[in-house]
Amino acid sequence: MSSFCELCGQAVIDEKKAVLIDGIVFNVCRGCSKRGKPYTAPIPISKSKPTSSYMTGPRTTSNKTTKAMRKIEMTDNTILNPEFGKLIREARMKKGLTHEQLGAQMNVKANLLKKLETGALKPDELFAKKLQRFLGIQLYMSDQED
Ligand SMILES: [Zn+2]
Repeated sequence: MSSFCELCGQAVIDEKKAVLIDGIVFNVCRGCSKRGKPYTAPIPISKSKPTSSYMTGPRTTSNKTTKAMRKIEMTDNTILNPEFGKLIREARMKKGLTHEQLGAQMNVKANLLKKLETGALKPDELFAKKLQRFLGIQLYMSDQED
């Protein structure tokens, strides 16, 4: 099998899952699928029909997917530094590592690091903490600045 998880970079032996993280679709292994929202390919439907129609009935069955929805938000007054891309890039360069080298160390794809550094992708809480550990940087900051 020649398929790899786009988040951790590991070979995926069983089926890959498509998940949505900050609006970007990743094909990931089962472990990483918990870090995003389950993604289903958009079905072409007429715009006049709202997709919420199936939600009108009472929710008797507990929906497994809703639990993972709000994971990315941190506690109230701790926010991701908007300069996170710059912070990651500077810390990586200080260590003299390429995207590929850092990716190999962190067990993630170099491409993911590139997306983070350009700000195209926001790290989720789990990954941000991993970056903080690896790079010795602070990605979260308090919201109460004055
Ligand atoms: Zn993975």
